[in-house]
Amino acid sequence: MRNITVTKASMPEYEEFIEAIKPLWDSRRITNMGSYHQELERALAEYLDVPELSLLVNGHMALEMTIQAFHFPEGSEVITTPFTFVSTTHAIVRNGLKPVFCDIKKSDYTIDEDRIEDLITEKTVAILPVHVYGNICNAERIGEIARNYDLKVIYDAAHAFGETYRGRGVGSLGDASIFSFHATKIFNTIEGGASAFASHELYERLYNLKNFGIRGETLVVGVGANAKMNEFCAIMGLCNLKHVERDIAERKQRVGYYLKKLEGRKELDCPVYRDDIRYTYGYFPVLFREELCGCGMRDIVYERLKESGIYSRKYFYPVTSDEVCFKNKYRDIAIENARYVSENILVLPLHPDLEYEIMDEIAEIVTECLDTRTTERGM
Ligand SMILES: *Cc1c(COP(=O)(O)O)cnc(C)c1O
Repeated sequence: MRNITVTKASMPEYEEFIEAIKPLWDSRRITNMGSYHQELERALAEYLDVPELSLLVNGHMALEMTIQAFHFPEGSEVITTPFTFVSTTHAIVRNGLKPVFCDIKKSDYTIDEDRIEDLITEKTVAILPVHVYGNICNAERIGEIARNYDLKVIYDAAHAFGETYRGRGVGSLGDASIFSFHATKIFNTIEGGASAFASHELYERLYNLKNFGIRGETLVVGVGANAKMNEFCAIMGLCNLKHVERDIAERKQRVGYYLKKLEGRKELDCPVYRDDIRYTYGYFPVLFREELCGCGMRDIVYERLKESGIYSRKYFYPVTSDEVCFKNKYRDIAIENARYVSENILVLPLHPDLEYEIMDEIAEIVTECLDTRTTERGM
């Protein structure tokens, strides 16, 4: 049985990578912030249009260590979204902080900026929104709230690699933004991640955190861990960066194709693309409007696709606040939109090499499921 996955790791030509890693056999300098690490930090800061950038071993550690670098008092509260990959919530909790789950908007699934202020207490120290599926949060309003209440803003920009918002790199929003370069993301370094920010002090703090606080042969200035990116991963990143624009263009074409295939189905909410955002098309989420398709249509489509060897994903189900490890542990806040979206959304396969015939098939299965249900319901 074939296996059509939701994404596929982007890789350079085999010969290109082999050629690129050859110098490592002479130098034997394969990690510890070598020349490729430095080169990739510079190249990514430029590509992402951010003032400063620190490479890390993965996106999760980038987020965890970025939060840590702000030295928030233990037990402080961080206002965040429950509609995200569980990493976002783990990073807060593993720093000894309490997540405060704020509901999202049904329009673009990002944190509802109008509900943030009501959740602020004397213990709140930060807001941690997610540019989910590459939809950029209302950064102006969030920034304004943060200024009024003296809070930090850290964006989980794992889904927004290469995007710009009103002409600026998304990584320049807030006090810091983290990116993931995991194999499943638009741009990968096999495993990897980065934190972007404007403060050079933050760069120094992250440097200590990711490299044991070592500043000299016998000098350790801070308590840190090991979260450095190695040279093989950095070279993979340098190779992949060369074709990322082509990949984005291929993704954009496929998104246009899906939209054309599914247009006119009022039971579906497909992504809406705004003029003030440059998208990089990491995901194609489809929301099955419960009030029009009835309950459970998302799961029906998921199963039907699976029977045909096509693996869509229920990103993100359940909401992270309902995961076994977090349930009933934090402030109980109404998050009806997040639950609704989480129960009805499905991310369809999308990557630069996805065949158009497969997309035809996917669209047919979705349409068939919708039509069958409509007939059953006598609509
Ligand atoms: C992928 C992802 C992460 C974690 O990144 P890794 O590189 O896999 O550690 C964090 N947040 C979101 C929203 C993600 O999608």
